[in-house]
Amino acid sequence: MRLSFLGSCREVGRSAVLVESDQNNDRILLDYGVKMDGTEDNFPEHIRGRDLSAIVVTHAHIDHVGGIPIFFISGSVPLFMTRLTQDVSDVLLRDMINIARYNSNTDLLFDREVLGRMHRHTHTLRYTERVKVGKDSHLTLFNNGHIPGSAMALVEMDGQTMLYTSDMNATQTQLMNPVHPLPNKIDALVTESTYGTTDHEPREEVEKRYIEKVQTVLENGGTALTPAFGVSRSQEIMMVLHKYINTKKYPVYVDGMARKIGNIYKRYRTYFRSYGELRNALEKSNYISRDNTFEQRQEAKRANAAIVAPSGMLKGGTSRMYAEAILDDPNSAILLVSYQIPGTPGEILLKENKYVYNNNEQVETSCEVELFDFSSHSGKTQLIDFAKKCNFGDQERRIFAVHGEEETATALCNEMNELGLHAVAPTQGETYKI
Ligand SMILES: [Zn+2]
Ligand SMILES: [Zn+2]
Repeated sequence: MRLSFLGSCREVGRSAVLVESDQNNDRILLDYGVKMDGTEDNFPEHIRGRDLSAIVVTHAHIDHVGGIPIFFISGSVPLFMTRLTQDVSDVLLRDMINIARYNSNTDLLFDREVLGRMHRHTHTLRYTERVKVGKDSHLTLFNNGHIPGSAMALVEMDGQTMLYTSDMNATQTQLMNPVHPLPNKIDALVTESTYGTTDHEPREEVEKRYIEKVQTVLENGGTALTPAFGVSRSQEIMMVLHKYINTKKYPVYVDGMARKIGNIYKRYRTYFRSYGELRNALEKSNYISRDNTFEQRQEAKRANAAIVAPSGMLKGGTSRMYAEAILDDPNSAILLVSYQIPGTPGEILLKENKYVYNNNEQVETSCEVELFDFSSHSGKTQLIDFAKKCNFGDQERRIFAVHGEEETATALCNEMNELGLHAVAPTQGETYKI
């Protein structure tokens, strides 16, 4: 078996790993994502669809699924993922088309027709269901705790086995059950390394600090705005709010894609830690609907309430509008709940207490701003622990760290190597024989 690292090497974004057989023509591509930073090198290394036996999508994030449609422009490949990943990916990819259209961007290579073809070639898998792919290889997906429907992929080929964790989380969250190492014997592990050098604050403490802040803001008559991505993070925050806040007294308003995604989640019972608690949070929130959006948003802006709106880094989406309404109010707060990429409005707000308007004008703010680490990725110790607990039998542990910035991925490998594991952070295009 050979592993080629086509993307997300010493960086985060454009994930793609190719698993190839030495004995036949089996070639399985794991993820094909895009990097959304506006540069030209958005895609992983090029690969021809007709050379592939199968493609696996581990979860519905653009850095894993965003490039998949290009394989269906003029051809097709059998595509494997969970049903929930299929449904949510469809929403995200359609959204990419809408945004490109809105911006008159004609560079986007696919349209709805391509997505239709992709849909028709998708085989949905349940967790732990083992299927044959290609001539003589097998694939099994397992929960990996990252977002609802997400999976790690176990590939058996040439009598060998490799595990690709994709983005994983070993912490139990409101929404998800955590990832667990598998008993299956493996010959190679491809692990993510997003937080390869840092551990997260314990989740209970993050939740406690967040709730105390929201409570104080609401009791002081303010608005607690939580900018959050509509897939997974919004629902996680909604569950936290409905669990601990008196939402009859202080309503929860939800804007953006979160409603659509929540309606998809409601159709599946098996992907969540507690379907009942999720359903309760989804049903008791007030959604900004399409019909009288303007009036509802005005009402929400004035309300003594909690608001959850995209995007998570205040880069776009309706969170900006709500933020602009409370910037001058010392009783209100903007509560950031995801990593803030340097240079984004969220990061500038957090570091300098300045809000950047669309015309680049910057203003000092009076509202409170705080960051809460509601991460959906394992921290450093959890990544090492997972690698240690994988079953390599009595052979050398071969570990490949991807999906982490250069310094992070290499530092994690150094630490693993000191512990007697054999870890490398491959560079883009590198191939390893297992
Ligand atoms: Zn992800
Ligand atoms: Zn990712």
